[in-house]
Amino acid sequence: MAINWIESKVIDQTRWTDDLVSIRFENNIPPYIAGQFTKIGLKLDGDLISRPYSLVSAPHEDFLEVIYVNVPDGKLTPHLHKLDTNDSIFVMDKASGFFIMDEVPDGDKLWLVATGTGLGVFISLLKTDSPWKRFKEIVLIHGVRTSGELAYQDQIKELQAKHPNQLKYLQTVTREKIDNTINARIPDAIKDGSITNICGEINSSSQFMLCGNPDMINDMVDLLGTYGLERNRRSKPGNITLEKYW
Ligand code: NAP
Repeated sequence: MAINWIESKVIDQTRWTDDLVSIRFENNIPPYIAGQFTKIGLKLDGDLISRPYSLVSAPHEDFLEVIYVNVPDGKLTPHLHKLDTNDSIFVMDKASGFFIMDEVPDGDKLWLVATGTGLGVFISLLKTDSPWKRFKEIVLIHGVRTSGELAYQDQIKELQAKHPNQLKYLQTVTREKIDNTINARIPDAIKDGSITNICGEINSSSQFMLCGNPDMINDMVDLLGTYGLERNRRSKPGNITLEKYW
C-alpha cells in the first residue's frame, strides 16, 4: 500500500548529548493515540528514506516530537542530525501501534520501564489523563548508560509537581556513578531490592509497560515471570505490555 507522506517543518530540537536528540515539527497528521508510532523521513537524492519512531508528543499538542539516536553510518539519522529550524521533514499520515493505554488491563500500580529512547513513548502517555485516572500509583524507571542521556527531566519534574503522591521516578545509570541514581541494570536493581525498596512490591495488581532495548525487555519478562506475571495479549490479558525497539 502506498504511503501518504505529509510535509512538515522543523520547529525546534533538543540535543541531550552529541548523538541523542529530540526533534519537534509541525503536526499536520490526522489524530493519533498516545503510545503510537509513525514513520519519519527525508527526501535524499530523490528517495524518501524513513524509519519508524514513537511519538513523544501527545495527541492534544499542536506539534509532533520524536527522540532519536544518531547512528553515524545510518541511512537517515545523520541527515536528521543536520536539520535546522524550518527545514522539511516528512511524516507518514497515519500513526499506528498498540502500545497504548486502552490495551493495558486495569491494576493498582502502573510500572513504566524504559531504556534509552524508550522513555519518549512514556512521556507521551503521561501527558494524557488516562494513566493518572486509571492507576493509583505510577512508577517511571529510565535506564541509561550515562547521565547525559537522562532526557526529559524538566517534563518529568512538572509531572511530579502535578501528581506528587502518584508518580515515582527512578533513574538507573550503568556506566557512570551518579548521586541519587541506581548504578545497575533495571532487572538487577529489582532483584537486589533497590527498586522495590523505594517503589513497593511487584504483585498481581501491577501492570508493566516495557519499552526499549530488547535484551532488557527479555530479561524483564523472565524476571516478572518469577512473580507470576505474564505477557498481555489480546487473546489472554496479562500484566506485561511491551514494545521492542530493535
Ligand atoms: P542501550 O544500549 O539499550 O542502553 C541503555 C540502558 O539499557 C543501559 O543502561 C544498558 O546497560 C541497559 N541494558 C542493556 N541491556 C540490558 C539488559 N539485558 N537488561 C537491562 N538493561 C540493559 O541504549 P542506548 O544507549 O540508548 O543505545 C541504543 C543504541 O544506540 C545502541 O546500539 C548504541 O550503541 C547506539 N547509540 C546510542 C547513543 C546514545 O547517545 N544513547 C549514541 C550513539 C549510539 P549497560 O550499560 O549495562 O549495557
